[in-house]
Amino acid sequence: MLEQVETYSPEETFSFGKRLGEDAGPGTVFCLDGDLGVGKTVFTQGFAAGLGITEPVNSPTFTIVQVYEEGRLPLYHFDVYRIGDVEEMEEIGYEDYFFGDGVCLIEWASLIRELIPGSAEWITIEKDMEKGFDYRKITIGRERQ
Ligand code: ADP
Ligand code: MG
Repeated sequence: MLEQVETYSPEETFSFGKRLGEDAGPGTVFCLDGDLGVGKTVFTQGFAAGLGITEPVNSPTFTIVQVYEEGRLPLYHFDVYRIGDVEEMEEIGYEDYFFGDGVCLIEWASLIRELIPGSAEWITIEKDMEKGFDYRKITIGRERQ
């Protein structure tokens, strides 16, 4: 059930994200894990393009969630890196996003693991310096790696 993809440039990661954005169905939650600077936002930018979003997408680090309405489906882009505790998620009414008809993409999803629906797709991005500075291994599966 695991799909693994290797990319060798930001453009390739963008294209892979774009393909998933083109295929994404309503109500899907995508959890993105991986270290700072690994490419979660690059992936998200491709994903947004795949949904037909043309406005610039950046990490919403200071707002937890950023909503993009212009694509084929609404995109709810979360970055929970700076979250203090899960109560902050309750304050923003996360369930309306997670169980709504849009698509959620959550950077640093493991930090709020207890809130993630069991049906979520987990996407883990990793570096491997032996394979070069721009190499990334992207693993997708139903369960968190
Ligand atoms: P994150 O959101 O995970 O903190 P970003 O997406 O903001 O990371 O940044 C990833 C950085 O890594 C960018 O500067 C990007 O150009 C660079 N990069 C190099 N190679 C790749 C690759 N194969 N895939 C994605 N990003 C890459
Ligand atoms: Mg980011």
